[in-house]
Amino acid sequence: MDETMRTTDLDHLLGLTASLANDFLAHNDDAEVSPALSLPELRDRFSTSLPESGCNSQEVIETIAREAEPGVLRTTSGRFFGWVIGGSHLAALAADWMVTAWDQNAALYSCGPAVSVIEEVAGEWVKQLLGLPREASVAFTSGAQMAHATALAAARNNLLHNRGWDAEYDRLAGSPQIRVLCSGEQHASIERACRLLGFGTASISALGTDDHGLLDTAALESRLSADPSRPSIVILQAGEINTGSFAPFREACRIAHDYGAWVHIDGAFGLWAGVSPHFRHLLDGATNADSWTTDAHKWLNVPFDNGVVVIRDRRAHRAAMSIRASYLVHSEDPADAAPDAARDQIDWNPEWSRRARGVPVYATIRALGRVGITEIVERTCRLARRLAGEIGDLPSAELLVDPVINQGLVRFRSQDGHHDARTEPVIDRLQSDGTAWFGGTDWQGKRVMRISVVNWQSTDDDISQAVGAVADALEHA
Ligand SMILES: *Cc1c(COP(=O)(O)O)cnc(C)c1O
Repeated sequence: MDETMRTTDLDHLLGLTASLANDFLAHNDDAEVSPALSLPELRDRFSTSLPESGCNSQEVIETIAREAEPGVLRTTSGRFFGWVIGGSHLAALAADWMVTAWDQNAALYSCGPAVSVIEEVAGEWVKQLLGLPREASVAFTSGAQMAHATALAAARNNLLHNRGWDAEYDRLAGSPQIRVLCSGEQHASIERACRLLGFGTASISALGTDDHGLLDTAALESRLSADPSRPSIVILQAGEINTGSFAPFREACRIAHDYGAWVHIDGAFGLWAGVSPHFRHLLDGATNADSWTTDAHKWLNVPFDNGVVVIRDRRAHRAAMSIRASYLVHSEDPADAAPDAARDQIDWNPEWSRRARGVPVYATIRALGRVGITEIVERTCRLARRLAGEIGDLPSAELLVDPVINQGLVRFRSQDGHHDARTEPVIDRLQSDGTAWFGGTDWQGKRVMRISVVNWQSTDDDISQAVGAVADALEHA
C-alpha cells in the first residue's frame, strides 16, 4: 500500500471517528436516554449477509455510528440511573483510545513495557485511594466478576495450602471442602465465581441479616464454631446493590479470622466511599479483610471493561494465577523476587493476552486527583438522596430505602393494594418517555424502582428533570 495514502486515510479516519464520538457525547444533555429502536429493527439494520469483499473503513464507521446510535442506551447521560453503570470521564475515554492505538499485549512487561509500569502505579494509587494495605497485590480484570474469581482462587489456594493441599497441582476432588458464607444478599457474580472455581453453589450458605439489614455476625460465629476446622471463605458486602449498605467489617473480620477463614469484600462500587471523609466510617475495619473487589468502570467512571482485585497475600494471589505451576512458584516467590523486578501482569491476572485497562484508570486518577474523585462520590451521593427523597414525596410514591450512599429504592402505591402492578407500568412509562432512565428490581418480595447515581456528569438540573419525568409518568401510566 502507498505510504502517503495510508497516512491520509488514518488522519481522516481518526478525525472522523473523533467527531462522530464528539457528536454523540455532545447530545448527552438533550438526547433521550432510552434507545429508539426495537430488537427486530436493530436486527434488520445490522444483519446483512457476510460481506464477500471489503470496503472503505471510513464508510464502515460512519454507517455503524449512524445505524447504531438510535439503538444505544445512553448510559453516558447524567440522567441515567439504572443498575450501577457510570459514564466515561474524558481522560479515561482518551486514554482508552491511546491503549487501542498502542495495541499492547499487557500480559508481560516485555510485550508492553510502558503500560506495565503505568498499571503498576495505577494499582498503587487505587490501594491508597481506597485505604487498602500497601503490601497487597493488585490486578486489573475485566470487571468485578473476574476480580471475584481471582480473589477466590487465591483464597482457595491459601486455605488448602494451609491444610497441605496444593489446589493448583492436585485436583479439588478429595480436598477439604471449602464453604462460602455470605449474608444472602450478595451479588450473583459471587455465586458464579464459586461455580467457576469448583466450589459449587451448594457450598454457599446464607447467614442472613440483622434488623438493620447488616450481616448477622452472631450467625457467622455460630456457623464457624459449629465446624471450626472446615476451610471457610466469608463474603462481605461494601455497598449492597439495592440499599448501598455495608457489612460490620471489623466485627465480621475478627470472628472470621479467629477461625482461620478468608474474608473477601465485594466493594464493586461501595469501596469508593472510602475516598470521602464523610462516608469513610462505613468502611471501618474493611482494611482487615484478605481480599477486595472493586470496579473502575462504575464510580471511577472509566469505560468498560475495568475491574480491580486487591489481595493481601501476594503469594496466594500469584500461586493461583501464575501460569507456572504453583509447585514451582516457591522458587520464585514474589517475596523473594527483587523488589524492583518488572511486573508481568500474566502472573496476577486470569487472562493471558490482555488490554492495558489499567491505563485509563491511571489517566482518570491523574486527571481528577483525590479531590476530584471525592467530589464525584460526595456529589452523586447527595444527588441520590435528593432524587430518592423528591420521588418519595410525589403523590402515591413511597421511599423504601433512603440512600446510605448512592443507591436507593422507591415504589408506587396503588389504591387497590396491588403496588407491584402499579410500579411496573410507571417504570415502563419512564423508560419509553426517555427523559431519564430507571430500572425495576425485586426487593423483599416487592417490585421496586432502583435509583443509582454514579455518573460523574450528573447535576442538580438532571435530578430536577428526572423528578419531573417521574411525576409525569405517575400521571400518565
Ligand atoms: C456490578 C457489581 C458486580 C459485578 O461487577 P462487574 O464489573 O459487572 O463484573 C458485583 N458486585 C456488585 C456489588 C456490583 O455492583
